[in-house]
Amino acid sequence: MSILIKDSLIVTQNEKREIKKGDVYVEDNLISEIGKVNVEAEYKFEGKNIAVMPGLINTHNHVPMTFMRGIADDVDLFEFLERVWKVEEGMTKEDIYRGSIMGIEEMLRTGTTTFVDMYSYEDEVAKAVKEKGIRGFLGWAVVDEELTTQGGTPVGNAEEFIKEYRGDDLVTPLIAPHAVYTCGEETLLKAKEVAEKYDALMTIHISETRKEVYDHRKKTGMRPAEWLDKIGFLSNRVIGAHMVWLTLREIKLLSERGVIASHNPTSNMKLGNGGSMPLVEMLQNGMNVTLGTDSVVSNNNLDMFEVMKFAALLHKNERWDPKATNAQMILDFATVNAAKALGLNAGSVEEGKLADLVIIDGNEPNAKPFKKENLVSNIVYSLNGLNVAATIVDGKIRYGEEKFS
Ligand SMILES: [Zn+2]
Repeated sequence: MSILIKDSLIVTQNEKREIKKGDVYVEDNLISEIGKVNVEAEYKFEGKNIAVMPGLINTHNHVPMTFMRGIADDVDLFEFLERVWKVEEGMTKEDIYRGSIMGIEEMLRTGTTTFVDMYSYEDEVAKAVKEKGIRGFLGWAVVDEELTTQGGTPVGNAEEFIKEYRGDDLVTPLIAPHAVYTCGEETLLKAKEVAEKYDALMTIHISETRKEVYDHRKKTGMRPAEWLDKIGFLSNRVIGAHMVWLTLREIKLLSERGVIASHNPTSNMKLGNGGSMPLVEMLQNGMNVTLGTDSVVSNNNLDMFEVMKFAALLHKNERWDPKATNAQMILDFATVNAAKALGLNAGSVEEGKLADLVIIDGNEPNAKPFKKENLVSNIVYSLNGLNVAATIVDGKIRYGEEKFS
């Protein structure tokens, strides 16, 4: 497939963070030319006031749960989990597949081209990923054997899943130990062994609530991140979701080990976790910060534009400092930082990068005035996912095909 996007503002997210004006030409699954391009393409997008930006990357989701939207509002995490686990007891593989389709459609509609997931039966999620054509980094959820409803062992199932999907063009399999309160040392180390064996990433919830931290300290004498380091779990293969309750000592430790942060501000605020991820200190210590929605049950949507805005505002307010975050920094979290974390040749609009792209319609009232000077500001502070006119993943149009000629 070849695609030509004409006369667009281009949010390149290149080294210099340039915003260019011109055409973007996509051939097969790569961005092949940027500038003044005079070629015929199978699909052509022309319009007044459009912008091309890198597809957004959501680094924390449980996409099958999309079918549970609205079942656990206005409760804390532990009541939340009880309600979710109750539904999950009666859940079928078909529910997982259907929930995934629903969530993926929402992500493509709102400009997400890649997501990281954690759930059991990721083979069903993988089916939905392949069908809809989004990019999925799918983490088979692992908990202690006595807690699971999965047939077989969770680590064994994760390994089988990794073996099956290794090398796939859209699905990158990973292993996802759930948290320190559901995985003991043995489970975590087995998961790590599998990740190393197949050179796969891992994702885990770390220090989401104060209760988790206090309970773990009572049990082990250590805070979760300290303990994870002591048992040898932490490395640059680990994407830590939430990481709200961290000490400065833990931040330094996580940074030294190269752990990637997935910041989920909307979910944290909705569950009333109190406090906020210590973003400023994490950045000062050189951690790579990315953004995630978490599942729709704690969000309640998968719109990464909304997450960007919440992330920006949360820390300004928390620190009594409007300079604590800025629009460019936040856009980096959702694009270049996340691509780097996942080892993905994407996250920017440059020749030779994967064609994971979003086209923004600047004609909507909330996008005006639509110009180069305020474009990054608009993306973070005023647009939302419904401003997306088209989404391209791996060089294929996955949303908005009817708008191309
Ligand atoms: Zn989660």
